Amino acid sequence: MISALPTVRPAELSRDPAARAALWSVRKGLYAAVAEARPPGTTALLEDVVVPVERLAAACRELAGLLAEHGYTDPVIFGHAKDGNLHFMITEDTEDPADLARLEAFTEDLVRLILRHGGNLKAEHGTGRAMAPFIDRQYSAALVEVLHGVKRAFDPAGVLNPGVVLTADTRAHLQDLKPVDRVDDEVDRCVECGYCEPVCPSRDLTLTPRQRIVVRRARARAEADGDLALVAALDEQQQYESIDTCAVDGLCASACPVGIDTGALVKRLRGERRGRLSAGLWRAAARHWDTATAAAGRTLDAAAHVPPGLITAPNRAARALIGPDTVPLWSTDLPSGGRRRSC
Ligand code: SF4
Repeated sequence: MISALPTVRPAELSRDPAARAALWSVRKGLYAAVAEARPPGTTALLEDVVVPVERLAAACRELAGLLAEHGYTDPVIFGHAKDGNLHFMITEDTEDPADLARLEAFTEDLVRLILRHGGNLKAEHGTGRAMAPFIDRQYSAALVEVLHGVKRAFDPAGVLNPGVVLTADTRAHLQDLKPVDRVDDEVDRCVECGYCEPVCPSRDLTLTPRQRIVVRRARARAEADGDLALVAALDEQQQYESIDTCAVDGLCASACPVGIDTGALVKRLRGERRGRLSAGLWRAAARHWDTATAAAGRTLDAAAHVPPGLITAPNRAARALIGPDTVPLWSTDLPSGGRRRSC
């Protein structure tokens, strides 16, 4: 695995901004691209350890051996070589006791390996939950007690991120692992990396694509758990937050390393919400768009010559019957139909 990339394309240095941008794009999308290929229903677990640079090659070799020894057949190791920082990714079914037992044994061996090389159990991403039970293996008991004391001073009730960074639970790294449910074909490959978020037009209004997917997964999980109250609450809240306010412009797909277009999912969900009559009407309009727009123009022309009261009531009735998304609200502020433009 470690040598797989150079065999695909030899390493090269470049001062060309375009070539550098392309390489960075591959590097930044690496985690998502690899995690996307995980077996369905498994969770991608990404580690973040560091060893002194002069020990990096040996640590890599040993890590690859360790992964093989524990039966991880498709791990990926990458990272920041100049800093001795290694990321590697494994996949586990977090609801399978056998997978959890393997993860427990592997983590124990990993901690020994990294500490034997004089490394740190966490590098650039923080201790989190995965290494919280092991910090007393890296630091002295006195120092760990100081850390706990600082935490207690700021958080006497222990309500801030319990179990994260500091924990007394020696099995904290095996608990509350996130399961990944299969929910929607369009987005099941999502690894929740968040690359789509900066380009999403609704990010400052309601939800981002990643958040829309997370809500769908939470809903599926609640349904599987039989928590119907939560299902109902999520259905109600996601209507505006997730479905109504998505621009469905597909911009997210341009930033997503695995090409997920959350807008396609939202389009389908909107379509499923439509009644047959509404869907049939819009299908017919799409097939005969010229006629549909001409008819709409003539309707506006005619409406301008009719007392408003004669239009308002049927307009409201049609909106109530067919749906406000299908029948536009008419008002006296609307212009008449106008003339057809020549291209
Ligand atoms: S949809 Fe967004 S969060 Fe999911 S993989 Fe693509 S970029 Fe990452």
